[in-house]
Amino acid sequence: MQDLWALDWRNRGAAMGEPWYTRQQPTAIDAPYPVVFNDDVAALLDVDSARARREGYAEVLSGNRMPDGAAPVSHRYGGHQFGVWAGQLGDGRAITLGDIVNARGQAYDIQLKGAGKTPYSRFADGRAVLRSTVREYLGSEALAGLGIPTTRALAIVGSDAPVYRETVETSAILTRVAPSLVRFGSFEMLFYHRQFDQLAPLADHVIATHHAEIAAIENDAERYRAWVAEVIALTAELVADWQAVGFCHGVLNTDNMSVLGLTLDYGPFGFMDSFDPEWICNHTDEAGRYAYNQQPAVGLWNLGRFVQAILPLLADEPDAAVEVGQQLLEDYRGLYDRAYLARMRAKLGLCDALDGDADLIERLLKVMAVDGADFTRTFRALGHVSAAPRATGAPFADEFVDRDAALAWLADWRTRLGETDADDARRAERMRLVNPKYVLRNYLAQSAIERAGQGDYSEIERLHAILRRPFDEQPEHADYARLPPDWARGLMLSCSS
Ligand code: AMP
Ligand code: MG
Repeated sequence: MQDLWALDWRNRGAAMGEPWYTRQQPTAIDAPYPVVFNDDVAALLDVDSARARREGYAEVLSGNRMPDGAAPVSHRYGGHQFGVWAGQLGDGRAITLGDIVNARGQAYDIQLKGAGKTPYSRFADGRAVLRSTVREYLGSEALAGLGIPTTRALAIVGSDAPVYRETVETSAILTRVAPSLVRFGSFEMLFYHRQFDQLAPLADHVIATHHAEIAAIENDAERYRAWVAEVIALTAELVADWQAVGFCHGVLNTDNMSVLGLTLDYGPFGFMDSFDPEWICNHTDEAGRYAYNQQPAVGLWNLGRFVQAILPLLADEPDAAVEVGQQLLEDYRGLYDRAYLARMRAKLGLCDALDGDADLIERLLKVMAVDGADFTRTFRALGHVSAAPRATGAPFADEFVDRDAALAWLADWRTRLGETDADDARRAERMRLVNPKYVLRNYLAQSAIERAGQGDYSEIERLHAILRRPFDEQPEHADYARLPPDWARGLMLSCSS
């Protein structure tokens, strides 16, 4: 276990330098104070969290005091935003202190989000507000608790230095931790600026650090093709993970797509309450480009932009490269469908695969959509229902207004369970492990944010403690699994952060 300020920094971003990374010191902020610190992520980094709390982490994790040996950088990337090439974006307020390798050989970048202006800040202030920082902290740890790949959050540091959004807000800095923060847009930036020679070094950097087996492929074109196939597979798996828990990212621009298939950049994301396949969690996305049911197709569209950007790596001849790229992309749909179906079968407690399963799942989702049944509660409740034909349909049917529709579906489900999945206790246990009881509902995040605004961070801690084990019953916290209260129905979220 080490001191936070005595980590062994590798500084590979600084070593790579331009055009991928620019050296950038954080801008000091007034009187930073501790808000929350995450023992789980500290453990990933082999950081002694008791000592960090005792000796104070706010100076280092605000960027006011640079740890010895760290060479901080900001990353240059671009991206397609809402379908349009947006040009250069980059880390406008994120400064990566450096990267480390833990005792298990796992590599992590450690980044301060909200640490001041960078060459990529454009007209913005380089700061983050407490509100959005709390959402990212809880959102990323909630997905981690669900076992979904994501960037992590080590800590939040606050400061009373004002930041100006629609109103004056409290500033905060989030320490974000991830094996890599390279995005689809990192490659697009090089492609659109015709810096084709700079594509390979960045790809090699990602492959060498994160894909040992692929790195061993000697032929360049073959190695890059294997890597692209991996990025496509990781993306398909990630989107299937989101769909299976009713998670909507909200801003799936290509600059927010991780090449490691991590959930990245938490803005107006949301977990669905009442099931609506067309649910839009970002109220500035009026056309619903990033609606819940669009996410699988958006994954493919974004991969198309990524593959286009790295075409020069796939073959020498442009036409051949296009052909290879298209072939690789063709695998996405099948990979996604299989990943999604596997997760939904598990949610229904099915051990084996039968032809009619996709239809059974679709019909349940339809009944839920017509009824507006709560996504999380409905699946959780299904795990408590007996397979016996004459047994009660409670508590599953209780989640519906139209009980008859729910019971009709339940009869089909019972028939499908048949002999193989008929053992209630065993199936209940399997289903418990894939159907969470607790998710970060918007109103729960909102309550934690409001309390944090008054200097009370206990609700962030409490929510985090619940969400880090979302599959456990935790009867003492049953209130956190309730339907949202009426006041929460009109909650609006936008990109403002
Ligand atoms: P995001 O919506 O957080 O994914 O950000 C989109 C782009 O805007 C990225 O290039 C960010 O770095 C940049 N950005 C967002 N907020 C700020 C800010 N307050 N200061 C500087 N850059 C920002
Ligand atoms: Mg972003």
